[in-house]
Amino acid sequence: MDAKQILTLIETEKIEYVDFRIVDMLGRQHHVTIPAYAVDEETFVNGVAFDGSSLIGYRGIEASDMVMMPDPASAFVDPFVEAPTLNIVCDILDPDGTVYERDPRSIAKKAEDYLKATGLATAAYFGPESEFFIFDNVRYSSGPDGSYFHIDSEEAYWNTGAEGKNLGYKVRNKGGYFPVQPTDTQTDIRNEMSTLMSQAGLKVERHHHEVATAGQAEINFRFDTLTRTADNLLLFKYIVRNVAAKYGKTATFMPKPIVGDNGSGMHVHQSLFNGDTPLFYEKGAYANLSEMALHYIGGILHHAPALIALTNPSTNSFKRLVPGYEAPVNLVFSKGNRSAAVRIPVAAVTPKSARVEFRTPDSTANPYLAFAAMLMAGLDGIKRKLDPRELGYGPVDKNIYELSDVEKHEIRSVPGSLGEALDALEADHDFLLEGDVFTKDVIDNWISLKRAEIQQVERTVNPKEYELYYDL
Ligand code: GLU
Ligand code: MG
Ligand code: MG
Repeated sequence: MDAKQILTLIETEKIEYVDFRIVDMLGRQHHVTIPAYAVDEETFVNGVAFDGSSLIGYRGIEASDMVMMPDPASAFVDPFVEAPTLNIVCDILDPDGTVYERDPRSIAKKAEDYLKATGLATAAYFGPESEFFIFDNVRYSSGPDGSYFHIDSEEAYWNTGAEGKNLGYKVRNKGGYFPVQPTDTQTDIRNEMSTLMSQAGLKVERHHHEVATAGQAEINFRFDTLTRTADNLLLFKYIVRNVAAKYGKTATFMPKPIVGDNGSGMHVHQSLFNGDTPLFYEKGAYANLSEMALHYIGGILHHAPALIALTNPSTNSFKRLVPGYEAPVNLVFSKGNRSAAVRIPVAAVTPKSARVEFRTPDSTANPYLAFAAMLMAGLDGIKRKLDPRELGYGPVDKNIYELSDVEKHEIRSVPGSLGEALDALEADHDFLLEGDVFTKDVIDNWISLKRAEIQQVERTVNPKEYELYYDL
């Protein structure tokens, strides 16, 4: 869709409001709503002015005038607002009309431009699998700082071993994948989410209950180019959250809401194409992977510690990245193996669907920054011909959780904490600065925002501390 088509759509669909949306540094969307009669062709040339001073990670009040520049191709009719409303994703510009260097969406677009400029490929495709939990209720504690919460969920309660309860139809620990109804109580809610996603333009491929006990879900939508996929992921989260709210529930994308059960990942499938020609497939090679794909994997694994500061950017992320829950801990690649950080899917793969799956990321990532960073790492691997086999990243086709200590010794692990990942990013970020895709300012800003989060968490009294120390 272009601007003219949007204006026609406003007429034909009797749209009353247009909702302009941007994303902050952390990946949260914000919006301003304008009556449709006030939107004209100029709006798509001059953009919409807004005050950027209150957005996390952006500027101070001394230079807060900014512009939202709508991307007409992203428009969809909002299914949750009563008055017919068209939502449009925007880039953020400085008042002089140039791109604001911290705008995550503009960084994603620059990464795609950089890819083309290298001449290695014309398009990068991304397919994220964003898992989440749907809970009945989350009650915040009445503790003095109100900083921790209790999950009020029938399923979680019954599986803690509470006495005297009938466990009929209840999901057993790690048993959520994937019994039919009545054990699966969330089919209707996932159907409704999927229907609205399809209406909003996502191509839903499947949905199912996930492994964890208390209402873990996964809905997959079709891959697309980098920036478009990041737009799609925000649309996906918007629909998940709003449908959950309609059912009187909440959905959370935090990676590890329940100790002792599976967490939620956002595995990201990736491939490069030259026009219509897939570049990651070579019949007969290991996992039918081309040299280029191997080098892409080499780049991802070589830069993984730094990359993870962008793909797993919460303190909670590292509570998921522990052994035993299908989340990757080890920096190796493998075909089919779900315990490796990079998996090469081998079932039903064609030249066009040949791809690599990076399993580390989770949905606390800002998708624009995370996808851009993964592409930059992969491209660096291709340019430097980083061979993951020579660099000691496998392939490892056994269950890594069950390797002997000697075998494990050879394998490098993901960083153990957000602080370690940020240290790695501080030491290794030149690959992100290529082609001015990321700037030093963006990296420094990210590191300081995230270090401030760590400090907040560290200074907060944690429920476990009561258990360990209250009676000591
Ligand atoms: N929930 C697992 C994770 O944390 C992944 C399960 C799966 O393979 O889909 O990555
Ligand atoms: Mg899954
Ligand atoms: Mg997966």
